[in-house]
Amino acid sequence: EYVNFNELINFVLDRFDMMLVSTQKNYIIRREFTKRDLWVEVDTDKIIQVLDNILNNAVKYSPDGGEITCRLLETHNNVVFSISDQGLGIPKKDISKVFERFYRVDKARARAQGGTGLGLAISKEVVKAHNGLIWVESEEGQGSTFYISLPYEPYEEDWWE
Ligand code: ATP
Ligand code: MG
Repeated sequence: EYVNFNELINFVLDRFDMMLVSTQKNYIIRREFTKRDLWVEVDTDKIIQVLDNILNNAVKYSPDGGEITCRLLETHNNVVFSISDQGLGIPKKDISKVFERFYRVDKARARAQGGTGLGLAISKEVVKAHNGLIWVESEEGQGSTFYISLPYEPYEEDWWE
């Protein structure tokens, strides 16, 4: 189905913000979105699952008090959504592996945090099924940015006139 991607992301972020209130961690979520409405054909439930996992990771692998920045923009034929955290980051040697099933950077740390190590593997499957791309840029000790790019056909503003 075609959904207004800006609205979908706002919905997911609002809900996530409300859930954070009930956890011990403090966060600020910043939104930097294009003003243009982007209509994207997605499996809504599955994309929500992807966004939730990446947001959960951003909190789970960050110390208290961090800032999470979410950006939404369009390129020529894609919408690109990114989630940046100021957390632990991912060591260079692990970056290419975090999308593998059951892969976790630091086994002891990951066990203490809970989870299965499947979140990103599932996210990658979902994004692939949408003919999109998912990737991460990260600096150990500085933070991580996860990117999701989905195919998108831009429309002309006056298309319906
Ligand atoms: P699950 O999502 O199944 O509950 P998980 O969070 O461990 O468990 P993934 O979401 O697939 O599994 O992430 C895989 C690993 O990648 C994590 O265990 C963690 O080591 C690393 N990782 C993921 N996101 C981040 C992040 N934002 N910052 C630092 N490390 C991360
Ligand atoms: Mg996860």
